[in-house]
Amino acid sequence: MEVFKFGGASVKDAEGIINLVDILSIKNPQKTIIIVSAMGKSTNALEKIIELYFAKENQVSLEILSLKEFHLKIIKNLFKEENNDCEKEVHKLFEELKLFLKSNKSPDYSFVYDQVVCFGELLSTTIIHYYMKYKRLDSFWLDARNCIKTDDYYRSANLNWELTQKSIIDQVENRSLVITQGFIGSSLNNFTTTLGREGSDYSAAIFAYALNAKSVTIWKDVPGVLNGDPRVFKKTRLLNQISYREAIELAFYGASVIHPKTLQPLQRKEIPLYVKSFENPKSKGTSISKGKALEPNIPCYIVKKNQVLLRLFSIDFSFIVEENISYIFGLLHEYQMPVELIQNSAISFSVCVNDKYKRLEELVLVLRSRFNVEVIKEVDLYTIRHFDSSASQFIKSMGKPVLLEQRTQQTAQFVV
Ligand code: ADP
Ligand code: ASP
Ligand code: MG
Repeated sequence: MEVFKFGGASVKDAEGIINLVDILSIKNPQKTIIIVSAMGKSTNALEKIIELYFAKENQVSLEILSLKEFHLKIIKNLFKEENNDCEKEVHKLFEELKLFLKSNKSPDYSFVYDQVVCFGELLSTTIIHYYMKYKRLDSFWLDARNCIKTDDYYRSANLNWELTQKSIIDQVENRSLVITQGFIGSSLNNFTTTLGREGSDYSAAIFAYALNAKSVTIWKDVPGVLNGDPRVFKKTRLLNQISYREAIELAFYGASVIHPKTLQPLQRKEIPLYVKSFENPKSKGTSISKGKALEPNIPCYIVKKNQVLLRLFSIDFSFIVEENISYIFGLLHEYQMPVELIQNSAISFSVCVNDKYKRLEELVLVLRSRFNVEVIKEVDLYTIRHFDSSASQFIKSMGKPVLLEQRTQQTAQFVV
């Protein structure tokens, strides 16, 4: 079995869906499972609907209508006949969504989020499934929620590997062409759960692991994994091949081209991952597999913008040692502040954090009871793998003051 994953950018409009079917035709899809994300920015639109719903704004219906129009327009551009089966199915999904919002009694934001946001993927796969049928590609539409079994940690659910593996084998193994949703799963009580934003790459890896797939290909709007995000860095170059280890490191430090959880299941079974361009499907892209040397061997750049640098100093010149450090980490965990970089000296402790949940002020207030705290907002964290003199030149050429610097053999990090 081969696994193909198509992200939101690849199916953002009718042309994208036509292109997807063309790619499948070139690849001759025997024994393939296709994992698809929500179209374009649909997940963001659904997030907005949820926010408005909780704020009790009456704009909810308008936003739903606009999302519906977006999907209906795509259908119109794909099928000649009006009022076709695909359109009817999409109407049904929107009725289901509205009914949920109308009858829901749960005040739990994360629970409601998952029950609503899943419609992005249900809609995209329904439309693509009907279009494949229209083009005489006979596929089976699988509800990923019947396979991806998780706990009920809504918005970032944890996989139940055993149950998931069994369900996937039962429902997929004997089929030839299957289309299903990325990102979504279900709890043991059969409520919808999600794997976290951008989680469709991870879904592809889960299916591949369970099926002992030959390979996974993720189709992107870039030629493959580059040595930097082309939206941020100029003159990026394609990495032809990298090892799982390198890919895990890049994803961990924030190269958003691959979801960080994707690599572990693949490397465990040594399933190669290909990252290719959906605009140029015949080009080779990047191949990620076991032990391959980075080729070409060049520095790789990653930036995380808008981070916060906290500098803590002991009030009475006492040392910052295990006990205080453990206290600081406890607070960072409590206030849900992902730690990007740490550095300590005898009487100071610096930490670069991501204020993901906007809880910085609360945290600083608590820290000030035990330390002198300096807060530097809106800093950028640059991580450079395979640092060399050209990378050093790059940091200098930015002309921004370096507030903190840290180097290991393979990786250099700079807070600027
Ligand atoms: P998807 O459509 O699958 O959701 P994403 O938007 O999540 O795709 O990922 C593709 C984007 O990742 C690219 O458009 C690019 O801007 C960004 N990106 C970040 N780092 C890299 C990198 N090192 N190489 C290639 N693309 C990168
Ligand atoms: N649709 C989800 C998101 O936009 C999952 C994904 O695309 O990977 O985050
Ligand atoms: Mg994405």
